Amino acid sequence: MNPNEDLEEKKLLGSGGYAFAKLTEKEELKASLGVPQIFLSNLGRLNEDRFTKYYCNKCAKEYPGSPSITYENPNEEVGQRIILVEKGEYTCEHVTT
Ligand SMILES: [Zn+2]
Repeated sequence: MNPNEDLEEKKLLGSGGYAFAKLTEKEELKASLGVPQIFLSNLGRLNEDRFTKYYCNKCAKEYPGSPSITYENPNEEVGQRIILVEKGEYTCEHVTT
């Protein structure tokens, strides 16, 4: 990646909440697919150090840093000619009491 490329903090929607990560314009375009929302699952693999914070629906709380992300390779067909190459899902490490 070009280190001089501008990174912009974007909100990414995931299965258990949302996360904020710094994306290049190219990544943003690739992930947004023309819609205003960016889905984590459209983005593919993203290094954890790119994440700035995330919000967990379960805890109803925002946490700094990166969530733990699990990537699968389901290669499943989700619609007409759309293949999910990688499914990003993030899990919360905080245990609620
Ligand atoms: Zn949580």
